[in-house]
Amino acid sequence: MRIPIIAAACAAVLCLAACAGSDTRSADTRSPNAPAPAYGNVDAKRLLAADQNAGQWMSTGRTYSEQRFSPLKRINTDNVAQLGLAWYGDFDTNRGQESTPIEVDGIVYVTTAWSKLYAYEVKTGKLLWRYDPQVPGTWGVNTCCDVVNRGVAVWKGKVYLGTLDGRLIALDAGSGKVVWEAQTTDKTKPYSITGAPRVEQGKVFIGQAGSEFGTRGYLSAYDAATGKLDWRWYISPGNPADGFENKQMELAAKTWGGEWWKTGGGGGPWDAITYDQTTDLVLVGTGNGAPWPAEIRSPGNNTNLYLSCIVALRADTGEYVWHYQTTPHESWDYDGTQQITIADLVIKGKKRHVAMQASKNGFFYVLDAKTGELLSAEPFVKGVNWAFNIDLKTGIPDFNPAARYDKTGNEKGFIVVPTPGGAHSWHPMSYNPETGLVYIPAMNGTYPMVAAREDDNPMGQKLSISMRKGFAMYDQPGAAKRFNEGYLIAWDPVNQKEVWRVSFDGSRGGGTLTTAGGLVFQGNSKNQEFAAYRADNGQKLWSMPAQTGIVAGASTFEVDGEQYVAVAAGSRIGGNYYSSNYSRLLVFKLGGTAKLPPTVEPPAQVLNPPPQFGTPEVMSHGADTYNRFCGTCHGTDGQSRGLFPDLRYSGALNSAEVFHSIVIDGALSANGMVSFKTALTEADVNSIRAYVVSRSHDAVKNGPGGMAAMQQQRSGPASATGTKPADQKAAPEASH
Ligand code: CA
Repeated sequence: MRIPIIAAACAAVLCLAACAGSDTRSADTRSPNAPAPAYGNVDAKRLLAADQNAGQWMSTGRTYSEQRFSPLKRINTDNVAQLGLAWYGDFDTNRGQESTPIEVDGIVYVTTAWSKLYAYEVKTGKLLWRYDPQVPGTWGVNTCCDVVNRGVAVWKGKVYLGTLDGRLIALDAGSGKVVWEAQTTDKTKPYSITGAPRVEQGKVFIGQAGSEFGTRGYLSAYDAATGKLDWRWYISPGNPADGFENKQMELAAKTWGGEWWKTGGGGGPWDAITYDQTTDLVLVGTGNGAPWPAEIRSPGNNTNLYLSCIVALRADTGEYVWHYQTTPHESWDYDGTQQITIADLVIKGKKRHVAMQASKNGFFYVLDAKTGELLSAEPFVKGVNWAFNIDLKTGIPDFNPAARYDKTGNEKGFIVVPTPGGAHSWHPMSYNPETGLVYIPAMNGTYPMVAAREDDNPMGQKLSISMRKGFAMYDQPGAAKRFNEGYLIAWDPVNQKEVWRVSFDGSRGGGTLTTAGGLVFQGNSKNQEFAAYRADNGQKLWSMPAQTGIVAGASTFEVDGEQYVAVAAGSRIGGNYYSSNYSRLLVFKLGGTAKLPPTVEPPAQVLNPPPQFGTPEVMSHGADTYNRFCGTCHGTDGQSRGLFPDLRYSGALNSAEVFHSIVIDGALSANGMVSFKTALTEADVNSIRAYVVSRSHDAVKNGPGGMAAMQQQRSGPASATGTKPADQKAAPEASH
């Protein structure tokens, strides 16, 4: 009997040989007596004087300000059309890739899914070392949105990596050998790390994800030399009976109701951490709470500090200084974790040192970086309907009462704009001080939200919303029309208005990079290309088909007088349903002539279901249970649109025993298909199998639809733009 491979987590072919450009230089030509190069030797002075290190990309946002702006201009509007691939390096995992490549002293450091780390020599593409922290495949079940990693921090010869299972690891930048390792989370709880650590003055800052799973979020600072915990700041208050860690937690507890600590509180700071060198503050973006509806999480119309905030802490002590809450009563998964960018702007004739955020909730916030005073807040996408505006005096949103589906009742929902995926999420934005514009990878769409205490907590996530009732709302008379759009938006943060935009027709634009060469670089998930636009007017000047979606942020750097642009290609679940995912680091330069290898079509799949079985009740229960527990990875309605197997083709359908061994006993857990023993009964599993068998028969009769139909339609290598069959619904954006 054939046991299908359920998850493609670790199955990709390992291909480490990078394709070299014409000016190759082998590291082996070095004299054996030559001193070892000072890899990754970033210290405070160099990072603080990042403008004197114009050729480097030493931190995830290039400088502490997280502007993702490079002063380099050898590649510019006049010659970017000559940009070509210098080399590429294949990754050994084909899950989502979200890492910004860091470059220091001619070495580029990039992470992949499963928290693996690669170090390449920039000039040759030679792989110097790589490191696999051996994250257990089963840890994937603790993530909402794929097993991703967004990059490393580098400091005084060490590279710092956060791992999916909650470790912070310091490696020698030259050899990749582990120097120290610290477990930053309680491993008995479903915490995960997907964000990049930041490092400043000998401290490494790291947060974690997991709010949806019922955890309590916090920011930690570790000694960069030793790995000793220096300070920790919790984001939501714990059980009052245990006492509070500090005065802020005591005050925050007054903004919570019920027994919130039993579901953890939430607030996990899973992405934005910005050190502001001017104020010596660390600004951290905090996550949402769980369950999602505020009245279920914390009854009594509470604001729930410090969820969905920007919080400023003293870098050396972790002492609280100020906070601004972007979304009080958070109920829409509007985390406040989006990138926080520091800049000096002239607002109303006055020079202001500001922190900027394009929030998931659709508003662009400009705050005084020293005090947290709200200077301005305007929607950067159209149709935002959870709040009408933000009161600049109080900083409090003017809520749309109908949007408070957490209060309006169990059955009465609301179709909210933007979606829980956010008008802008982790995908990096960039600020160009020469154009004065912020380049936002934006999405806009509708999402139906219905509160449900007992319903729909898929995969251990404590959401307490009913997806079944929610999506039925679209069929009601007068319901808001469903839409899903993607853009690159150039935003003027001083006047709070859009200057130009590029529309992507429902496709996700990746992170942005902007340069003094007058350019904005951005990848795209569906169009599967990497492109350069004019920073002043959005004119597209160059693009290259990438054979796969690109969602990560790019970086640029200069080695021996040559400028390079680097980006991690490979998009996550839901973003790559148009073709296979070829995960790799792409490095470009002017006149680069390297070519990607031809794409390989996956082998044709055969539908071979056993006879149908199960009563209509069993089938209906199977549909519900499938969509709650299996649909996120294997596709809603039983047809895969991602890189996870389409179960209608699974050989395991033919055997109740094999199906049981996978779903209950975890026979494929090493591949990321964990046991659902604690979540599903025997009857549940039987009904899921009955449902998928019936879907398989539907496919035999009516054609497969979804991804399988795409593969049947296409011939030859992946095209740069996929064509969407008319019957295919847009895959919902996974949120974080
Ligand atoms: Ca979230």
